[in-house]
Amino acid sequence: MFDTDKYATATIVSRRDLAADLWVVRIRPDVELPFRPGQYVTLGLELDGRIIERPYSIASDPAEPEIELFIERVAQGELSAPLHDVPIGSATLVRKRCKGLFLKDAPVPDHPLLLVCTVTGVAPFVSMVRSLRRRLEGGEWTAEHAVIVLQGAARSDELGYADELRRHQAECDWFTYVPTVSRPWEDTEWRGETGRVEDVLRKYADEAGLRPGYGAIFLCGNPGMIANSRGIMTRHGFADKAIREEQYWPD
Ligand SMILES: Cc1cc2nc3c(=O)[nH]c(=O)nc-3n(C[C@H](O)[C@H](O)[C@H](O)COP(=O)(O)OP(=O)(O)OC[C@H]3O[C@@H](n4cnc5c(N)ncnc54)[C@H](O)[C@@H]3O)c2cc1C
Repeated sequence: MFDTDKYATATIVSRRDLAADLWVVRIRPDVELPFRPGQYVTLGLELDGRIIERPYSIASDPAEPEIELFIERVAQGELSAPLHDVPIGSATLVRKRCKGLFLKDAPVPDHPLLLVCTVTGVAPFVSMVRSLRRRLEGGEWTAEHAVIVLQGAARSDELGYADELRRHQAECDWFTYVPTVSRPWEDTEWRGETGRVEDVLRKYADEAGLRPGYGAIFLCGNPGMIANSRGIMTRHGFADKAIREEQYWPD
């Protein structure tokens, strides 16, 4: 039995498999789990008498009835591998508090936002864009500056939210989505940007008018991408504090 002060259960209500190791899942916790865009839930499974738990960024808007997550199964991963096998209708454990400070200050007043990610690192940005659209419709937010999501993946089937983000781009003049694929030779139909996000970062930052002192940059996901992107933008003159990050695993 688990510690009910710390944990609740969450039922898996739906899932969408994108590739063999990548899926979007919606969970319904049996308690209220308030959060803001950029925060994460801690999911757990009881395995061999131990609770194994890991943080996962939330992709849904806080106003949605369920929590949506975008997860990659890591080979031999202690949690993500067994989590991948949990069927719809079953339950996982979930910490009773969502946490995290990433995106706490976003959108940054008077600055365009450049949101840069690899694969599942798009989750907090999806949450934010959904939330901004709801707040805009409710008159709680005004779109005065551009918001750009730059997402990198090996192949286009890993771009979990591409259709949704392209739709936001078509419907919102303040929003731009730029996906880039680093193995185009495995993806012969791909007609978009190629290379890693770092390869196209300066081009889109410049196009959006970001310059030192003007623009907030948020980096999420792969530690190599974060280190490279931070290096590129600080060499360009951006202050360290203009760049925030959420690193998913150690370097
Ligand atoms: C704040 C935060 C938010 C996160 N949000 C997400 C999310 O939205 N979606 C998501 O899939 N993951 C996310 N992660 C990563 C997640 O918490 C786990 O680390 C991941 O699922 C691997 O856990 P595991 O137990 O399967 O692997 P472990 O057994 O813990 O790790 C096995 C090895 O794989 C490495 N590793 C971990 N993740 C990856 C990866 N994606 N690619 C390559 N190597 C990796 C580890 O460093 C370790 O060396 C987040 C991490 C943090 C800190």
